[in-house]
Amino acid sequence: VGEGGEITYKKIQSSQIMGSIQLGIQHAIGGLASKPERDLLMQDFMTVETTNFPHEGSNHTPAHHYSEFKFKTYAPIAFRYFRDLFGIQPDDFLMSMCSAPLRELGNPGASGSIFYLTNDDEFIIKTVQHKEGEFLQKLLPGYYLNLDQNPRTLLPKFFGLYCYQCNSKNVRLVAMNNLLPSYVKLHQKYDLKGSTYKRKASKTERQKNSPTYKDLDFMEHHTEGLFLEADTYSALIKTMQRDCRVLESFKIMDYSLLVGIHNLDEAQREKTEARKSTESGQSDDEDEPKKSGLNRTRSINRQRLVAHSTAMESIQAESEPIDEEEDVPPGGIPARNARGERLLLFLGIIDILQSYRLRKKLEHTWKSMIHDGDTVSVHRPSFYAQRFLDFMGKTVFKKIPSSLKHSPSKRK
Ligand code: ATP
Ligand code: CA
Ligand code: CA
Repeated sequence: VGEGGEITYKKIQSSQIMGSIQLGIQHAIGGLASKPERDLLMQDFMTVETTNFPHEGSNHTPAHHYSEFKFKTYAPIAFRYFRDLFGIQPDDFLMSMCSAPLRELGNPGASGSIFYLTNDDEFIIKTVQHKEGEFLQKLLPGYYLNLDQNPRTLLPKFFGLYCYQCNSKNVRLVAMNNLLPSYVKLHQKYDLKGSTYKRKASKTERQKNSPTYKDLDFMEHHTEGLFLEADTYSALIKTMQRDCRVLESFKIMDYSLLVGIHNLDEAQREKTEARKSTESGQSDDEDEPKKSGLNRTRSINRQRLVAHSTAMESIQAESEPIDEEEDVPPGGIPARNARGERLLLFLGIIDILQSYRLRKKLEHTWKSMIHDGDTVSVHRPSFYAQRFLDFMGKTVFKKIPSSLKHSPSKRK
């Protein structure tokens, strides 16, 4: 995994996985074009399509330079229906997934999964364990019953489940919506569960460029929490309550709320600083632009591909656009920190594929159970949901007090 050395997953080079799955996905989407749209049938959730990709190519697969592989597409018709539910046209999905190299995300979770981001910032592809893939397959009909009734949700949206097979190794992958814009600086990032047991970012994590902090770090950084307008606050909490009820109904736990914070006032100060240092003849070395200026402007001004999926849309809230700062992606939830600085929050629920019955880190579970004082294991998913909601509603998010509301935003 080290710098310079190539990243591998199950001893397969990541670049090979990336290139091969793009070929696989391209083939899968192309194949769907000949199948007319129709109502979903229960069996659509169970189908698996397998394609061989020999070096020299075949009647329906291109020649390639990767190792020969098999590519499985799970429930292709069902996933097409879900993509349609979120307004994703087949051509757009194909463009996002296959027209440019994927980008590997710098900080994967502890599980060893790798994450790829599509170049247009819309989708994330995550490798998942066998059990998680199986669980998603079983979950699918019920889960989408909920999303169909209510697409305004902070729950993850899954747009594909695949398996790349090479040298008798299986790499299972899910495609889902990306929550965090990569072309805007996130001054802080948190993975929050509402637990305090071992919920502190490790030293290695903290040394990263853009670390993902945890619950205890949040409480330290934001002792008073993040402040939202009353309407926004209730919209957010209501959405999370509804979402947690769905997760609890599937006995899911261990999920997190991923929160990215863009601090508008901080960004302003950084801009001024950068200008000063260029004027004084120093190098203009911002570490932010990952994309070319052209690309960046385009992605910011463009509508998101995935319908009603920004944080604001997910909680069904509206607010006045931030006009003074046009260099910011749409859809962040406006908030303030205790100092009154203006923030934009990008957030959503992640990592829901570990069902309670399939948990493997038993020892950790046992210890944290004792730590949390929740020893009645049957109740765990409901205990988890309740604690999660409590933490979000009381510790993380607060209604804005009137004293903060009209305070000047730029204080020294
Ligand atoms: P573990 O099981 O050890 O918690 P994991 O490998 O299952 O880890 P996740 O918890 O799903 O990984 O995610 C790890 C990190 O990847 C998150 O903290 C976040 O930074 C990033 N991430 C995950 N899903 C998304 C998403 N949909 N959009 C943006 N970033 C994401
Ligand atoms: Ca996780
Ligand atoms: Ca996980």
